[in-house]
Amino acid sequence: MDRTQDLDERILLQEVNEIAYTISAKMDAERPEWEPSNHEKSNWASEAAHPCNRFLVYCRLNWAERKGLDLPARYRVQDGKRYESMIRGDLEAVGYEVLLNQASFRWEAFEISGKIDGMIAPPGYSYRRLPFEIKCMGSYLYERVLRARHVRELIESPIYWIRKIPSQLNIYLLLQALPAGLLILKSQGHKPKILPMILDYDLADQNLERLISVNEHVRKKTYPPKMKYDKKLCDRCDFHHLCLPVPTQEFFQISPEIKTLLADYCEAKTGHREYTRLHAKLIGSKDDPGIFRGKNLVVDDFEISSTEFKKAGVLTTRTAIDRMVEGDLPWD
Ligand code: SF4
Repeated sequence: MDRTQDLDERILLQEVNEIAYTISAKMDAERPEWEPSNHEKSNWASEAAHPCNRFLVYCRLNWAERKGLDLPARYRVQDGKRYESMIRGDLEAVGYEVLLNQASFRWEAFEISGKIDGMIAPPGYSYRRLPFEIKCMGSYLYERVLRARHVRELIESPIYWIRKIPSQLNIYLLLQALPAGLLILKSQGHKPKILPMILDYDLADQNLERLISVNEHVRKKTYPPKMKYDKKLCDRCDFHHLCLPVPTQEFFQISPEIKTLLADYCEAKTGHREYTRLHAKLIGSKDDPGIFRGKNLVVDDFEISSTEFKKAGVLTTRTAIDRMVEGDLPWD
């Protein structure tokens, strides 16, 4: 490749790069931050199985302070919606008309609201209508749900995000007084998994009992205690900034001696951090030299002796600069 050709290619690459950047920026702009929606009056059906009652109360009393979705999450949600609409199309393509597509509902008695993904009316089905809930997910979660042979395995999953799927459909079934529904689970590049679900009264009791307690807190404007700290849940919680959970598993008493040791340890750690910061600024490294690297000087009350020598390509510096950390620095 001659030099002119190389230059032409670089100019072309730069031009195409700018176009790619513009497209990407326009796509981002199409996904602006969402305003939090007012959920003061009802609990989300989709969150009925959330393990933290305090979170559920925050959703009601502090809905306006809920942390919004970041940009990658907004892309994910939009992808999910596209897959949902694709699956509705697939159902219609094989002869199942989708009824009550995304119909909103509210269950006054338990202060629950949500949206039902849809219903089908399979010919000859004894109860006529069969509601369904579509959930799209990444491959990590999909591999887990793919193994399930019965919906109970989702209800008992150690992963909260999986547990909440059957709870949501169960609430629709209870509200509509329908005995069964379908979970349609999908991940990109995979055949959807269609899992039947029979109305589960035990699960309903479990979810509704907690929501009754949440409603009581909302009425009194009080908050339940924080759940035991769970890194996966609490660190991603939309109300983490209000709750400020303590990332610890257990509390125990310590003797005054151990307390002193812990305090000394924390102090030494801070000192060490400060030492590392100053060392980088004053001495630095071979690749990123500091102010005095390789110098021999007298500065104010400090004698700085620094020897550089090359050994097998390694540059080493010895200095008396540590003294400076103890006293005032001769600059700002
Ligand atoms: S941070 Fe943890 S304890 Fe606090 S509300 Fe969220 S999930 Fe519950």
